[in-house]
Amino acid sequence: MEDPIVEMMSDKTKEWFAYAVVGMIWADGRVDQAEIKYLKGILSFLKDKRLITSVLEMIKQNTMPDLTPIKIDNDQAIAIMKHLTSLSIVDEELATSEEVFLKDAAVHLGLSTALADKFIALARKRLGGNRFPASLLVGEDSVEVSCFGFTENACMIFTDRLVNPLARLTLKLHTNPRADRETGFYNPIVAEAQWCREVKSNVAKYVVKAAMKRPISSEEGARLVFSLPEESAIKKTFEPDFNCLLGFFVSCRSCGEKDIPFWQLRTRSLHANNNIFGIPLYDKAFGNSDFCDYNLFQVSVCPNCLFASNQIDYFQRQDKAVGVSLFDVSSFKSRWQSGLTKRKKLVGKNDSWLFSGERTLNQAVISYELAVLTHDQLGQLGDDEDFATHQRKSISFKLTQAEMLMNKGERAMAEQIMLKVKKRLENAFPNMAREAGIRAAHLIVLISIYFKNLENVGEYLNYLNNYSRRHPVKAGSKESKLLNLAVRQTTEAWQSKDQWAYDSMHSFHLDN
Ligand SMILES: [Zn+2]
Repeated sequence: MEDPIVEMMSDKTKEWFAYAVVGMIWADGRVDQAEIKYLKGILSFLKDKRLITSVLEMIKQNTMPDLTPIKIDNDQAIAIMKHLTSLSIVDEELATSEEVFLKDAAVHLGLSTALADKFIALARKRLGGNRFPASLLVGEDSVEVSCFGFTENACMIFTDRLVNPLARLTLKLHTNPRADRETGFYNPIVAEAQWCREVKSNVAKYVVKAAMKRPISSEEGARLVFSLPEESAIKKTFEPDFNCLLGFFVSCRSCGEKDIPFWQLRTRSLHANNNIFGIPLYDKAFGNSDFCDYNLFQVSVCPNCLFASNQIDYFQRQDKAVGVSLFDVSSFKSRWQSGLTKRKKLVGKNDSWLFSGERTLNQAVISYELAVLTHDQLGQLGDDEDFATHQRKSISFKLTQAEMLMNKGERAMAEQIMLKVKKRLENAFPNMAREAGIRAAHLIVLISIYFKNLENVGEYLNYLNNYSRRHPVKAGSKESKLLNLAVRQTTEAWQSKDQWAYDSMHSFHLDN
């Protein structure tokens, strides 16, 4: 046992502690395997062989040691009480005699009775806190029992009926845990008895450990025993400040964080004017819609692990049944954890904007940065096609940052981002296939013309112009539409390259 406080104890205190352990073990009148195991762990600090022998002898002889008051410092007293409390429940039960023993020990250690009560409350809480009335069917017999200590796949049952190990059990939890009023049952839980032990308790004669084959479901009472909010209490949607938006609550697939707001643009509510790189600038509202700059908060961010995306499917919608994730959550999670400090630094101390529908330009830029980190990592998980999908998303987040900054007069920053995008595309281009290659060549040409970096433009223009000779492209397909757009726009830009260059443009929009 490693416990620095215990290590520091005087020999006299250690001896007192060892005797207290024996007393605790005997408090419920029997010795349990788990208790002996715990005792051996505690004895390992008693380097004194004589004392160890005497303690083990006491256990063998059923001797209850006499505890006398001892004067020690508070920290040591509390450390001893913590150990005794853990020991009191290793047999999964807290008998009245054990409670009495804990109280006596606390008083002998010079602690207040109020503190002793706290330790007892802690022990009770660890035992599972609430007890849930249920009807237990074993063979032909149905008995009223109470259950506690629920984990996903197991629970303890207080019962007056002896249950054989391996017996098949059917357990039905009462929907109303207060037994004063019967309101019905949840669906039956099928389980198997692992062991049945006699207990000295006012509640029942035996404790049975029931093991279930699969996790307990909400139809079987999971929400009740794990004190989860009822289905109806789960927040599903909210009303955003602007009526052009829909508000959904989502949960994070990576860390499980709940109630993350997600804003979705209503169809036909805002007019979008695309810039030369295909990024929308929202410039006016249709009909009775309120106007807002949707680019500011289209990325939703998990405030806990800072997972970020503008696509609701990468989260779990709380208004929908739990669905299959678009990505391998466990591989994502293990890698995502490592960058958390960096991401937290990016967000800074004030993270309240993550929850609010109002964002400054700077905050929105950060949200896109988090989305780039998220989708770059998602791209590492799957095949080439997944990689291309996420790469495309990351590029479009960077382009949106640039568009927003440019419109707010932050031209230098916006152009810096565009140059980085170009570099990223050029590096990735040799490994890009089909649609990804078309998109990349398209953007590289436009960015090069914008910056008047014309040396390599020919290479990418040729790639686009000769594309259909190298790859058969099905007429009317998505690939064919992408290609036609890319060829048309790059040809136009090349032909009037002076007008598409930075020194003739006030924004990334041609009409300005
Ligand atoms: Zn999260």
